[in-house]
Amino acid sequence: MSTALVLGGGPAGLAAAEVLLARGHAVTLVDHKPSLARKFLMAGKSGLNITKDEPVGDLQRTIGCPQLDPMLAEFDAADVRAWADGLGQEVFTGSSGRVFPVAMKASPLLRAWLARLEPMDRRLGWRWVGFDGAGHDFDTPEGREHLGADVTVFAFGGASWARLGSDARWLPAFEEAGIPMVPFAPANMGLCVDWSRHMERYFGAPIKNVALNCAGRRVVGEFVLSRAGLEGSLIYALSPELRTGAPLFLDLKPGLSEAEVAARLAKRPAKESLSNRLRKALGIAGPLAALLQEFGRPLDDLPSKVKALPLHHTGARPLDEAISVAGGVAWGALDDGLMLRAKPGMYCAGEMLDWEAPTGGYLITASMATGRWAGRAAADFMER
Ligand SMILES: Cc1cc2nc3c(=O)[nH]c(=O)nc-3n(C[C@H](O)[C@H](O)[C@H](O)COP(=O)(O)OP(=O)(O)OC[C@H]3O[C@@H](n4cnc5c(N)ncnc54)[C@H](O)[C@@H]3O)c2cc1C
Repeated sequence: MSTALVLGGGPAGLAAAEVLLARGHAVTLVDHKPSLARKFLMAGKSGLNITKDEPVGDLQRTIGCPQLDPMLAEFDAADVRAWADGLGQEVFTGSSGRVFPVAMKASPLLRAWLARLEPMDRRLGWRWVGFDGAGHDFDTPEGREHLGADVTVFAFGGASWARLGSDARWLPAFEEAGIPMVPFAPANMGLCVDWSRHMERYFGAPIKNVALNCAGRRVVGEFVLSRAGLEGSLIYALSPELRTGAPLFLDLKPGLSEAEVAARLAKRPAKESLSNRLRKALGIAGPLAALLQEFGRPLDDLPSKVKALPLHHTGARPLDEAISVAGGVAWGALDDGLMLRAKPGMYCAGEMLDWEAPTGGYLITASMATGRWAGRAAADFMER
């Protein structure tokens, strides 16, 4: 029997291992953490959104990475649901189309998944430290070890939330081996703001039913004011544009044109206070009014400030805090089966590849789809 090494036990690595085992190959899974899939379990703390219930074309468009299209076509939202179902884990679709396990956490799903992967050999607490010919070197509690294999699937994750395992310490060894990399950058990240002390009482406040405009893109929904700055799905959705340094504008009344905002304000008595005018004409009060004061002064042209308030921030929160990352192993380094051109028989999958996706289940779906794709290509390689 041929042996496959899967390095990294997050959703991508586990998906690769599942395919390799199903094809009858012996699998050894290595992870430097003492337990597997820590980021997957952390994702479960906020409900575990495993996919987005939409046709594959929509998934592909939202992720917007053509190299992933065939992988998503083979393992799309319906397949994720069927896979969870096959593990005896019921899922449901929320009003936004996001799909969650009924249990609303990751541990029962992970337990069932690992039970299915029981035949694989596990080496936990082993850190991959570099290539060694056709095999690999590891730092282990017992010292340096070497493992060889017929095929290898790397699934080391991205470069955020290092404490959960994906610390990107593998990167220099890949660069030394001449594997082209796109620098990691934060995705689905918050922004830093130097708030005035007036804003303190609003930290934690959600800003709902607003739109954000950045570099020609408009997104509608909600975000949150935090001590550090701005967070939440609406901010995360603009990560690619924000990374270019493009200015960010808040539309406080997305359902009204600037002329309608002006007309409503003009109807209020001239001697009315600014806060009463904003509240009575436009329903702008509390944290929304505070944002106008914080970023809109002088409030001379109020309608235009209401429709396009510049949100002055000082850049992205640190990479390690980002929900996910952009960048990673460059597509040019890989063939169609996700095999490293420089390392025949060695494949890459998951967030360590150069793609990014918004939150909403896309990340786990694409990580698993690439894991399965690499696992299948690795099995084909061995069987050839
Ligand atoms: C707070 C939070 C919430 C999230 N919520 C969701 C969600 O609801 N839905 C969603 O779709 N996505 C969510 N995500 C993103 C999702 O969890 C990741 O995109 C996904 O886990 C990536 O899978 P992966 O297998 O590529 O990498 P990872 O899950 O990061 O796994 C990589 C593994 O490789 C191991 N490893 C790394 N380096 C080495 C080494 N040198 N030697 C040995 N092992 C190594 C790590 O220990 C780790 O176990 C969330 C992320 C965070 C941080």
